[in-house]
Amino acid sequence: MKILAIGAHICDMEFTCGAVLAKHVRLGDEVYLLSTTAGEMGCNSVEAVQAYKQQKIDEGQRCAQKLGVKESLWLDYPDTEYPCTREAQMELCDIIRRIKPDIVITHWNKARHRDHYNTAVNVEKALWLAVIPTIKTNYPPHGVKRLFYTDNWEDPKDFVPNVFVSVEEEDIERWQSAINEFAVGRGEISGFHFTEYYKHLTYVRGMVAKYNNAQAFYSDMTICTEKLFSDCNPTCNSISEK
Ligand SMILES: [Zn+2]
Repeated sequence: MKILAIGAHICDMEFTCGAVLAKHVRLGDEVYLLSTTAGEMGCNSVEAVQAYKQQKIDEGQRCAQKLGVKESLWLDYPDTEYPCTREAQMELCDIIRRIKPDIVITHWNKARHRDHYNTAVNVEKALWLAVIPTIKTNYPPHGVKRLFYTDNWEDPKDFVPNVFVSVEEEDIERWQSAINEFAVGRGEISGFHFTEYYKHLTYVRGMVAKYNNAQAFYSDMTICTEKLFSDCNPTCNSISEK
């Protein structure tokens, strides 16, 4: 199985679904990471932006290596300026056609963060464009089986997860080591300790789904009934339902 996780900023997918990505690497699946911007505007001063951009790129490469992903890509759009355009959608369409993922993961499509929202919308449109045989790009048409949206503390509006994917202790250890490569993950940039937040969230989401640890997603179940995440719990919206 091939999984492609597409985020707006280097570290978004790594934080929000990195434990699940680590699990699927362990299971022998091919995992790909793509960020539409570096996320350089998250630093503390205008003067630091360019240096922080390179830092994010370097941190992202080290993180990807630790996670064991097959390929880590980054599109050089300026942070906060990723456009919602057909051109950007065609760019994603071509990457999707080249990689041929079974699963795509991206931001919640009601995200209030501009880059997160534009990335989610572009991904949705790109998935649609990718299957149309009369749209020519460098690669042949490809249909992705299911799209999952991630559980991000920045994008809580109307986000009700309906897929809980269990992760094991070894996946969490590998993932935590990987995301600790990010200064922002260690709480050194904004003061918000991302690594701790997302680690504890795996306990909370796991409790709801009666797993030890889990990461949560939303997926439109009407897209496909095929169970692609190997032991996800796609019907558990509350404790009483399981
Ligand atoms: Zn972000």
